[in-house]
Amino acid sequence: MCRHLAYLGPPLALSRLLFEAPHALVRQSWAPKDMRGGGTINADGFGVGWYPAAGHPVRYRSDRPMWADASLPGLVAATAAGALLAAVRSATETMPVTSTAAAPFTEGPWLFSHNGVVAGWPDTVTSLAARLPTRDLLTLDAPTDSALLWALVRHRLRAGDTPAAAVAATVAEVSAAAPGSRLNLLLTDGASIAASTVGHALSVRHGDGSVLVSSEPLDDDPGWRAVPDGHLLVAGPAGLHLTPLGRT
Ligand code: GLN
Repeated sequence: MCRHLAYLGPPLALSRLLFEAPHALVRQSWAPKDMRGGGTINADGFGVGWYPAAGHPVRYRSDRPMWADASLPGLVAATAAGALLAAVRSATETMPVTSTAAAPFTEGPWLFSHNGVVAGWPDTVTSLAARLPTRDLLTLDAPTDSALLWALVRHRLRAGDTPAAAVAATVAEVSAAAPGSRLNLLLTDGASIAASTVGHALSVRHGDGSVLVSSEPLDDDPGWRAVPDGHLLVAGPAGLHLTPLGRT
C-alpha cells in the first residue's frame, strides 16, 4: 500500500535514496517488505519532490512504475537537495491510475503524501468535504482519498496551522468520520517533517544533522527505529519527537 519517504539534512543526490540504497524506494516499488492492508507491489505511479537552493519545491510525478521511467535515474543522479519527499503508489481499488493521483501533492513550500485508505470512501467523507471551499473540491488533483486528504491538510496550512497541527487534526477528523481508515500522512515544508502512523509501517533514522523517515528502512543500519502505530512524528535535523495521536 504505497511507500513513502522524506529526508532533511546535508544535500545529497536524490538517487541515493531512490535508487542506490540497498532497499531504496525503487526496490520498495517492486519488492516491498511490509504491505499490510493489501496490495503486493507499488506500480501505479510515483513522484518525487525536492527543494532547490531557493524557492518552492520542484515536483516530478508519473502514472508509470518507478522502475519503468528510463529518464529518472539520470535526472535524480544529477540533482542534489537537502530536503525531499518521494512516494511510490499502489492504487486503492476503484481509484484511478493517473499521474495526478501520485504523491507528492504540493502547494507553495509544502509536499504531502498519504499511505493508506479512507474507509467507506467516498460516502464517509461527505461532512468533511462540506467544510472545504467549493473551489478546493472542484480542483482536487484526482478523485482519490489521498487528494481529498491533501485538500483538508492544505486548508489548515493556509489558515496558519503548523505542519504537525495540520496532520494531527486531519487524522483526528478523518478517523472520527471514517473509522478504520489507514492514515499514514507525510508532510514537509523543507525545514521539518510531520508524519502520522495509523495502520501502516514507518521507520525513522536520525543523527549527524539529518533525518530520514521511510515506510521501510533503506538499509540495515542499526540506527533505524520503528515508529509505533498511532503516533505523530515531528522531526528536523536537530530533533525528533514522537507523540501519541489524540494527545497532540
Ligand atoms: N488510497 C490511496 C491511493 O489510491 C493510497 C494508496 C496506498 O497507500 N496504497 O492513491
